[in-house]
Amino acid sequence: TDKKISRALISVTDKTGVVEFAQSLVSDYGVEIISTGGTARVLEEAGVPVIPIEEFTGFPEMMDGRVKTLHPKVHGGLLCRRDSEQHMAEAAEHGIQMIDLVCVNLYEFEKTVASPDVTFVDAIEHIDIGGPSMLRSAAKNNDSVTVVCDPDDYARILDEMSVHAGCTTLGTRRHLAAKVYTRTASYDTAISTWLNTYLANEDAGAAGTTAPAFVPPAAFDLHLEKAQDLRYGENPHQTAAVYRFADSFGNFASFASPLVGAEQIQGKPLSYNNFLDADAAWNAVREFEEPAVIILKHQNPCGSATGEDVTEAYDRAFACDPKSAFGGIIAVNREVPLSLVEHFADVNKQFVEVLIAPSFSPEALERLSKRTNLRVLATGGADGHAQLEARTVDGGMLVQCVDTVDEDPSTFTFPTTRKPTDAEMEDLIFAWKVCKTVKSNAILIAKDRAGIGMGPGQPNRVDSALLACQRAEEACERMGVEAGGFACASDAFFPFRDNVDVLAAHGVTAIIQPGGSVRDDESIQACDDHGIAMVFTGTRHFRH
Ligand code: 5GP
Repeated sequence: TDKKISRALISVTDKTGVVEFAQSLVSDYGVEIISTGGTARVLEEAGVPVIPIEEFTGFPEMMDGRVKTLHPKVHGGLLCRRDSEQHMAEAAEHGIQMIDLVCVNLYEFEKTVASPDVTFVDAIEHIDIGGPSMLRSAAKNNDSVTVVCDPDDYARILDEMSVHAGCTTLGTRRHLAAKVYTRTASYDTAISTWLNTYLANEDAGAAGTTAPAFVPPAAFDLHLEKAQDLRYGENPHQTAAVYRFADSFGNFASFASPLVGAEQIQGKPLSYNNFLDADAAWNAVREFEEPAVIILKHQNPCGSATGEDVTEAYDRAFACDPKSAFGGIIAVNREVPLSLVEHFADVNKQFVEVLIAPSFSPEALERLSKRTNLRVLATGGADGHAQLEARTVDGGMLVQCVDTVDEDPSTFTFPTTRKPTDAEMEDLIFAWKVCKTVKSNAILIAKDRAGIGMGPGQPNRVDSALLACQRAEEACERMGVEAGGFACASDAFFPFRDNVDVLAAHGVTAIIQPGGSVRDDESIQACDDHGIAMVFTGTRHFRH
């Protein structure tokens, strides 16, 4: 079942490692190399002897490269069953020579359509036809043909040839074939997802572009690959693992998410709950352009603040609720300096599960390395995020575009008699951004761009408001500042005026909320009764 490699066809877009691979095939095993335009040039320049594809087929590459390898001399040489007298006779009759190895990687379709200003024509031109055809032919004939679609496999194949006298084994060829069909399936899925999205956008009036706004298509194949097993799930009696999207989800997401993109610099492995909370914390802190810190526990931001720099933001976020911050996740939207680490490790002696930021200064890393258990994640950048999020339900899955706070404040409306002051408006916008991360019903009270009172997850909004007010008042007492002058965000509209009455009684002077209740008039009247300035955003940010 070992098969000797005598002739190889190499045609790659990603030229990583191809020269070394081809060089070794030729000089160590005397393999004859056939190659297409760009690949042949690279190999020839490196001194690797190649037979150009047009010489092999007797046909020129044509139609801008659309037709290069689509020829019976190629596909016959790949598909011919070596153990069939008839196949071999037909090959001989038509001058078809056997090809034993195909090394192909594809036009970069996924990368091309990931660019926000890709044109339709450009996307279409990046659909590889000849490449997948060769891969599929070779993979089908895995009895005899070795197929390699991933530069990471070059070394492994050369290793195997070195111990098997220039041959590959059947087991390896079958594994490589399986990998090919996974790859061509995900490639075609990327194409169909892109085209369906394009058409949906066109219907929505965004013709001519592949606008990045994602429209979930009517159907897509989901390919998930296991990223890692977890020690256990939310609780120790639950087994668990992390998967990453391997295709259409991934293709439409430029990931800087803690789950798939981030580098874990140090610390214990992430647990199930760490993943969930790190993801939520990072997505919350991403909303801010100015230096910001979110301290998050159990999916809720118990500390949040902006500042002149991230160290100041951290101090202010910690001060929101030091009790809850214990065992929390710290997310930072700028490089973490030594001073921030000193403040949580030495000054506050805060026990932290995960610290996540775009990057860390060398001094900060040096200091962090003394806390060996602390999990430190570097996302590499503050931009980019998945465009879709999914949750399973029994027998299916809920998929939606991710929720970001991208409302334009110039579209906000001001229904109350009193309009917010500039300072109030700053706190309102701060609260509005943080509130999005608080579980519904969500109330977030801010003062001086710090989230000092949070009311998460109550099944009625008045209880959330009461919780938030209590915490805000406690925070003021702890900090020795006068309570009151609070800005309040509500993730959804107030159904009755009772929320406003509660908030007013506890020192709220400005409110931001979507508006849209049939009883908005009552809430507006309540605000006017209490001299509160209210802002309607028009956008709800539920998070159940
Ligand atoms: P090269 O850089 O060698 O000119 O082109 C390499 C790329 O061409 C590879 O990604 C390969 O998959 C692709 N390719 C090979 N044969 C054909 C073909 O007949 N038609 C098309 N459209 N692409 C091909």
